[in-house]
Amino acid sequence: MKLSSASLLLAALAVAACDSKTATTGESAVSAATLGNVAAAPAEAGTSGTRATATDEANATPAPDPTTIPASSAGNAAAILARPQVPILCYHQIRDWTGRDSKGAKDYIVPVAQFKAQMKMLADSGYHTILPDQLFAYMTTGAKLPSKPIMLTFDDTDLDQFTVARPTLEQYGYKAVYFVMTVSLGRPRYMSKAQVKQLSDEGNTIGSHTWDHHNVKKYQGQDWVTQIEKPTKTLEEITGKKINYFAYPFGLWNPQAFPELKKRGFVAAFSLAEKRDQNDPLFTIRRIIASGYWTPRTLHNSIEQSF
Ligand SMILES: [Zn+2]
Repeated sequence: MKLSSASLLLAALAVAACDSKTATTGESAVSAATLGNVAAAPAEAGTSGTRATATDEANATPAPDPTTIPASSAGNAAAILARPQVPILCYHQIRDWTGRDSKGAKDYIVPVAQFKAQMKMLADSGYHTILPDQLFAYMTTGAKLPSKPIMLTFDDTDLDQFTVARPTLEQYGYKAVYFVMTVSLGRPRYMSKAQVKQLSDEGNTIGSHTWDHHNVKKYQGQDWVTQIEKPTKTLEEITGKKINYFAYPFGLWNPQAFPELKKRGFVAAFSLAEKRDQNDPLFTIRRIIASGYWTPRTLHNSIEQSF
């Protein structure tokens, strides 16, 4: 968070996100019932087998390139909405709090020990991380996922995502999605291009998160080039891979953004906790912010209640 106005808006959204249970209850009720069938796969072999199972399953079913999936599947909103949602967590900074961190900012700053405890809880609970290509295949075609799937996402390019989160995830064989804001690359306390490249090479997914975090709802004309086209091209040059996924700054979107993103090659976009667009759920995939205040138990409860 580089702008104080951005921080304030983020803080306000955090409150909104945490309080938005009423908005999501309708979807959650369906999801919980159906997801039971998915999650209750026979492989619930306990903690000791978790790591091997996750790796085996992930290797056994490589996700198809999303651009090979027929438009008829990607365009079937009713079928997509009917499938249980996979829990997706959104993280920003992973570092210990200081005296300068405001109460609101602490939702976006997860202390190191708290983050490690959250990841350990996920592993001990048998969660398997999935990546956007797997999620896309599941949402559009019903492709099989590992048992207890979850997606971990990291926004805004903070350096501690590389220095703290990355080695922690490695311990559990977890992969993640990093939504990079390109203006920050190479700045102090942010990741370098080489680090983003390394994350990509190690099997994580790099996604686009604009040039400098402006609100998508306000874009006009050239803004789409500055905020979306150029930074996405930069990320493709860094990683040597096509960038297929986008995350809205502040989680803010409007339906006018969907055709603009599609036109520029994106196949899906991620928002925050509010309800999905009923016509275009692939461009409003929900995530919850894993708060710095959350104990592993609170996180576990939030995952179950929010998706
Ligand atoms: Zn962001």
